[in-house]
Amino acid sequence: MDLKNRFSTIFFDADDTLWENERYFRAAEAKFIELLADYTSPEGVQDMLWRKQEDNIPLFGYGSKTYMIGMTDAALELCGGVLPEHIYYGVKKIITELAFHELEIIEGVEETLKALQGRYKLIVATKGDLTEQMGKFRISGLAHYFHHCEVMENKDEKNYLELAAKNDLDPSEIIMIGNSVKSDIAPVVNIGGMAIHTPHEVVWVHEMMDMPESDRIIAVEKITDVLKHLI
Ligand SMILES: [Mg+2]
Repeated sequence: MDLKNRFSTIFFDADDTLWENERYFRAAEAKFIELLADYTSPEGVQDMLWRKQEDNIPLFGYGSKTYMIGMTDAALELCGGVLPEHIYYGVKKIITELAFHELEIIEGVEETLKALQGRYKLIVATKGDLTEQMGKFRISGLAHYFHHCEVMENKDEKNYLELAAKNDLDPSEIIMIGNSVKSDIAPVVNIGGMAIHTPHEVVWVHEMMDMPESDRIIAVEKITDVLKHLI
């Protein structure tokens, strides 16, 4: 599909679209399972953690601090209502490592942004903890390609309508590039926008969703493929 000259602004998801993210959460979960190995099976720890994360995300939003609460809640329950000191500090260490890992830019991202810069206004549209996401944006080395970074509370239809209004765009003028069908593709298409799906091999359970049927969705294999449609 030829999208040239149809859009003035392009929105990019950040985590697992511009830089690696999910793999660090998976690594943190593996360490947590190890930490609780004396209390229950790996599946038991994983299940409890997922349940606690789902309880806490609506209250506290996304990001590693919410994972800290979810892990602490899960550990407390798995330890029978009394949280040993070494488990608490073990969780805190896992979360600290998760929050301050080195940022790894996904292959082809820089080349793609370089080609699009100057032709489009580029904006990062990410969800999560404000301090954490802005911190990643600043240290990424990619900030100069973008007009600015929007940290959204969530990525549902309502949030995308707000995003469009905030940037003086009609919802039909939104084009979003991202790896999550649930967060970057479906809600944008539902409000009349256009979406390009750039898949990532690791998908968080919370983000899993089948691709909707729509002629406003383009699926590419890798990020550099978006250039064929946009330039
Ligand atoms: Mg993402």
